[in-house]
Amino acid sequence: MRKIEEKAAAMAAAAPLFACPVCQEELTVTGTSLICANNHRYDLAKKGTVNFLNAPVATEYTEEMLASRRRVLQAGFFDPFLQAIAAKLDPRDRLLDIGCGEGTPTAKLAQPDGVTVGFDISAPAIKLAGALDSPALFCVADLAHLPFTGNSFSAVTDIFSPGAYAEFERVLRPGGHIYKIIPAAGYLTELRQGLYAGTDKATYDNSRVLDHFMERYPNATQEPISYDFQADSSLFTDIVKMTPLSWQAPADKRAALLANPPASIHVDVVLLTVAVQ
Ligand SMILES: [Zn+2]
Repeated sequence: MRKIEEKAAAMAAAAPLFACPVCQEELTVTGTSLICANNHRYDLAKKGTVNFLNAPVATEYTEEMLASRRRVLQAGFFDPFLQAIAAKLDPRDRLLDIGCGEGTPTAKLAQPDGVTVGFDISAPAIKLAGALDSPALFCVADLAHLPFTGNSFSAVTDIFSPGAYAEFERVLRPGGHIYKIIPAAGYLTELRQGLYAGTDKATYDNSRVLDHFMERYPNATQEPISYDFQADSSLFTDIVKMTPLSWQAPADKRAALLANPPASIHVDVVLLTVAVQ
């Protein structure tokens, strides 16, 4: 079976799953298209991905940055905290990965007996995700208007993406879990110090994001996870390229850091976990 047919079959097996972003009616699989009762239609692309946006949205992610991101994530940069999330998942989970980018973390989290869906607003990112050898389904969609029916998922993972909590709660079944990764103070400290020493960007404080989450979900647990990731100079260059933090850095600071890379990069995050009623 071709990939487009495989993915269409997987979407049909997982139904009800997708909802029309125009009229909110359920989308059903017909051939290799998704069609709603009002005849709004979304065709699968060759790799079985779907684009739910009416018009392309320009993002800061270029193909070069996405390729760097792919190499860094395949090398295991996020693996320790992905493993911490995976340990909490059920093999039958219906998992939605928010802002999945090029899809490597989604593929690493995909559950054997469940359904895994990743979406991102960047079409080039989803094109790369579609090329992965993974059972996960990938689509281009808008965080504020998720193209999924209510109660479609038992787990939502949000790795460094903004939270759209009302939408997360709509698509989650009662008792479903949110797993959210936010940076902590020491995240990428070598990059912050190397690029922004002496400025207010040299340090990071997650209290605004953390407080907002804890106000909404007072029963959430917080699990600090930190480690040092060893990177050779080529992988370090990729880390600098994939990180939004570095994009506005002064050119001289960036060149100096790349010329004299640190032996390792510190990853310091908090895993927030909550069951939503
Ligand atoms: Zn429709």
